[in-house]
Amino acid sequence: MIFGATGDLAKRKLFPSLYRLFDKDKLGDFAVIGVARRSLTNEEFKASVAKSVHSEADVNGKKDEFVSKFYYHSHDVTDSDSYSSLNTLAEELDSRYNLNGNRVFYLAMAPEFFGTIAEHLKTDGLTDTHGFKRLVIEKPFGHDLESAKKLNSQIRTAFTEDEIYRIDHYLGKEMVQNIEVIRFANAIFEPLWNSRFISNIQITSSETLGVEERGRYYEKSGALRDMVQNHMLQMVSLLAMEPPINLTTDEVRSEKVRVFRALRPIKGNEVNDFFVRGQYGKGVITENEVPGYREEDMVDQESNTETFVAGKLLIDNFRWAGVPFYIRTGKRMEVKTTKIVVEFKDIPMDLYNRQEGSVRPNLLVIHIQPEEGITLYLNAKKAGQDMNSTPVKLSYANKGIDGLNTPEAYEKLIYDCLRGDATNFTHWDEVALSWSFVDNISEVWENEKEQNFPNYESGSMGPKASDALLEKDGFFWWPVT
Ligand code: NAD
Repeated sequence: MIFGATGDLAKRKLFPSLYRLFDKDKLGDFAVIGVARRSLTNEEFKASVAKSVHSEADVNGKKDEFVSKFYYHSHDVTDSDSYSSLNTLAEELDSRYNLNGNRVFYLAMAPEFFGTIAEHLKTDGLTDTHGFKRLVIEKPFGHDLESAKKLNSQIRTAFTEDEIYRIDHYLGKEMVQNIEVIRFANAIFEPLWNSRFISNIQITSSETLGVEERGRYYEKSGALRDMVQNHMLQMVSLLAMEPPINLTTDEVRSEKVRVFRALRPIKGNEVNDFFVRGQYGKGVITENEVPGYREEDMVDQESNTETFVAGKLLIDNFRWAGVPFYIRTGKRMEVKTTKIVVEFKDIPMDLYNRQEGSVRPNLLVIHIQPEEGITLYLNAKKAGQDMNSTPVKLSYANKGIDGLNTPEAYEKLIYDCLRGDATNFTHWDEVALSWSFVDNISEVWENEKEQNFPNYESGSMGPKASDALLEKDGFFWWPVT
């Protein structure tokens, strides 16, 4: 059951992902009930599903069969009455399609409804099924620790922790999943993956788009809650975790949780030393003039909301003591990219060019999106008589190798959920610890209005203070353009 089946996420991501899984024979027996408020007939709904998979290839001629398995239930989720008719429809489809009572409830709706829906699923008997029952829940999971706890206790009345799949779609991205493999399957990296050999790690996730139509949501959220609490901290945890004893859900998650536990809390006066906030002003993106954040729809003209965050994180454990993890994320930046740069420490002495800085530090760059791949920067001999060194670049591009598009994050995550594999979803402990980290920062920022907003031009890489954050430590952001 997809709650919010007429929404943007369902149309752009969920239906196409389900179709690709179906086309690859990965769905087995299934039927989908789309639930939303609008009154639609089954036929109208099927037509909208067909439209959203319109651009997908249909080499196996399976589109019509796919669309035939979709049904619609018009239902206001705050209205108790229609849950029982939803249950009747589910039971009918269960026997028609031999579904063995297995149910996945996907909440692709505004977060204020998550708790209510979960409670109704229980009280109106939808979770009372003889097969498995799973709840997939979109971000944001709460607004802060307190609201996240409240939401969690609501959904826990109907589902156990093992049955809850909290989506962080970054965890479905091919190269985010590759972080573990690069680290744990290569003898040349893992021995160096610590404070003795790594000087710092930089994670950038930048967008060129502004807030678009999401002004109302974004005003209450900001970049810290929208990106840092989930995606950025999840990438930090994968980069920093200890090797798990095996790849089971419990082992991987418990290593990630240990990273969150070791993350040094940044509070009160320290916040503005460790974190930088920004808000975009007007500027030029790909030769088009764009407005500043405060001029966007549904945004307060004196908004204090940050559209950019840079921060320095420290992980207080044996492996990472003293190694800064720098993160930055923002809207309306110069490029759309997500990249991780691992900077290794300098060699003790430069025998070759004998000028400071002439031998570059080794870098491992993990390209998450839009390109997917890895680049390793080394120093090698410059061709010619002298023994001078020159930087060389070893690159691996994921897409170039097999010519196939890697599956989209949602396709992988939906498939994982259907198989009952929650490894790439966030556990409650991760959510709670990351909210406690972020709450300390938002508390300071909400109480102290930033006087300099807007403080970066659209089309730039963020405010100057973001560069200064690294300069204080003798580092700089490696270019990601
Ligand atoms: P949307 O506004 O496009 O769709 C909302 C859906 O909820 C519609 O189908 C609407 O009919 C339904 N709805 C609203 N009120 C209802 C009610 N009272 N009863 C029944 N149905 C009701 O939202 P969206 O962009 O699809 O986002 C859905 C969720 O996914 C949100 O939590 C969002 O944060 C998350 N999300 C969306 C995207 C995205 O790309 N759109 C990306 C990541 C996360």
